[in-house]
Amino acid sequence: MSTIATIPKIRDALRATFHSGLTHSIPWRQHQLYQLAHMAQNERELICNALQKDLGKPKTEVLANELGSVIKRALKSAERLPEWVKAEHPEVIDWQKPWNPTIYKAPKGTVLIISPWNFPMMLSFQPLTGAIAAGCTVILKPSELVPTFSQLLEEIVPKYLDPNAYRVVNGVIPETTKLLELQWDHIFYTGNGKVARIIASAAAKHLTPMTLELGGKSPVIIDSAYNIDLAAKRILWGKCHNAGQICVAPDYVLVQRDKQDELVKAFQKHYNAFFSKGALDSPSFGSIVSDSHYKRLTSLLSRTKGEMVLKGRADAARKRLELTIVKNVAGGDSLLEEELFGPILPIVPVDSLDQAVNFVNASSHPLVLYAFSDNEIVSETHSGGIVFNDTLQQLAVSELPFTGVGESGYRYQFIKYTYDTFTQLRSSIDMPKEAEANLVVRYLPHSEEAVKV
Ligand code: NAD
Repeated sequence: MSTIATIPKIRDALRATFHSGLTHSIPWRQHQLYQLAHMAQNERELICNALQKDLGKPKTEVLANELGSVIKRALKSAERLPEWVKAEHPEVIDWQKPWNPTIYKAPKGTVLIISPWNFPMMLSFQPLTGAIAAGCTVILKPSELVPTFSQLLEEIVPKYLDPNAYRVVNGVIPETTKLLELQWDHIFYTGNGKVARIIASAAAKHLTPMTLELGGKSPVIIDSAYNIDLAAKRILWGKCHNAGQICVAPDYVLVQRDKQDELVKAFQKHYNAFFSKGALDSPSFGSIVSDSHYKRLTSLLSRTKGEMVLKGRADAARKRLELTIVKNVAGGDSLLEEELFGPILPIVPVDSLDQAVNFVNASSHPLVLYAFSDNEIVSETHSGGIVFNDTLQQLAVSELPFTGVGESGYRYQFIKYTYDTFTQLRSSIDMPKEAEANLVVRYLPHSEEAVKV
């Protein structure tokens, strides 16, 4: 672990590297991106074991969602980089063409990435990939809630990436507070809204630009005409992923009152097919990350006024919590207070689609809205993304910008969008000497006849 005293020195060294021009070369950046992919590939056993230890994360989930996406995005970024970095020449009116108006793609500088525990590999390396591609130097601060993994990163990253340009700094609140006292050229934070406010305040002192990738309660609306059985299967799959600890997990379901029991039955059927012996000991189902999150979830369940229709077993010693489905949940219930971020699925019955839309609009803007419908019914809602007739699968499309809106965050990420985040568009003109004849009207003294508006 880095000591607090070394943090400013590390930042200064990274800044010196940036000014040396090392990260400006495109082949050099591509090499670092290939190295990143190589690291994910080579160290996959250590990474899988660390995530198993910290989160009980199933190996298949790690391979597909953490390692797979890191490798794919690093390779795509390396491949597309020569196209992305090209300067652009905007269309301008004829008499400005000789000025050669150009948009250069400049790396922002030395940046800070703060990542969370729930997908610690993907959510550390997704922003890092964009920062490397853009030509920035980086401190990556992983989450202390996945200590085995975060320590592993500190050990393996320098074996693959140039330590003069990229450093992992581990620590808890004092270390992060020290990091936030320093000036950065961009801060990329993924995590909860409470800490986001601390980070945004620190960034404001230096007017540092930020990306905030936050969470919230992502609702599901089911149109009563939609196939309830299929909706249940797809929602359940999304909810079971990482034991519900994913920022885009379906948080609660709004369904027409007369379809609620059919939906419950379909959930029960698919749950039994997914977990024939329950999820408590299933290797396909993750654990809760910490005792405090475990207590938070069981406390929410103990206070609900809804009716448990699938009651998950709990094992506090192992932080294992099976999925619990609760029906007849109404506004004001404990399960609707905050983002659940765990294996609890409340069902809120409504009388109409309009009521469902009003329910969603009465809360802060979610990261994503899931709508199971054959019609585009929800244009009057706001959310970072909108997914029709499935859950989570939007994450597989790296070419779509990923973002929140309002309380769920701001600015974009994924492949090119992450590159853009760490890139400054540097506008330029180059006035030719020969333009002097056309510029004569601008010189003093002013003459009203010369100015045509
Ligand atoms: P976390 O507890 O790991 O915190 C995230 C980071 O903030 C960590 O690196 C941690 O060290 C740091 N941190 C914690 N307290 C701090 C403080 N007082 N000052 C400075 N830094 C501090 O993770 P979390 O916040 O529990 O993550 C879960 C949240 O993140 C959920 O709300 C989820 O929806 C959201 N999330 C969003 C996305 C997205 O892409 N939009 C992805 C994953 C998670």
